[in-house]
Amino acid sequence: MKLVYTHENRLLVSNAHNLLEQAGIECVWKNEFAASAIGELAPISSWPELWVVNDAHSERAAALIEIAFSSSSLPQWICSQCEEMNEPSFDYCWRCQTEKPESTS
Ligand SMILES: [Zn+2]
Repeated sequence: MKLVYTHENRLLVSNAHNLLEQAGIECVWKNEFAASAIGELAPISSWPELWVVNDAHSERAAALIEIAFSSSSLPQWICSQCEEMNEPSFDYCWRCQTEKPESTS
């Protein structure tokens, strides 16, 4: 088992999880529910973590996550409701679930 991704925002980790599952890479959560149990200012040790079951897949998994989350060609977008910054690959605001604006240009 190897840790490939961790973030305080569990929706980002969920995104990574979906990505790896679609790629056929078996992975598991750790600390999935820790943050909500502790409160909003959770220490880093309670961040949700994404672990790849087979170590041989860890490099590919990390590369997939890197590509998906860097998305350098697309700008990040700012939610019209809560003004939170969102990754370009997100269709909904990670904080308040507001849909991404049709066009940001
Ligand atoms: Zn929002």
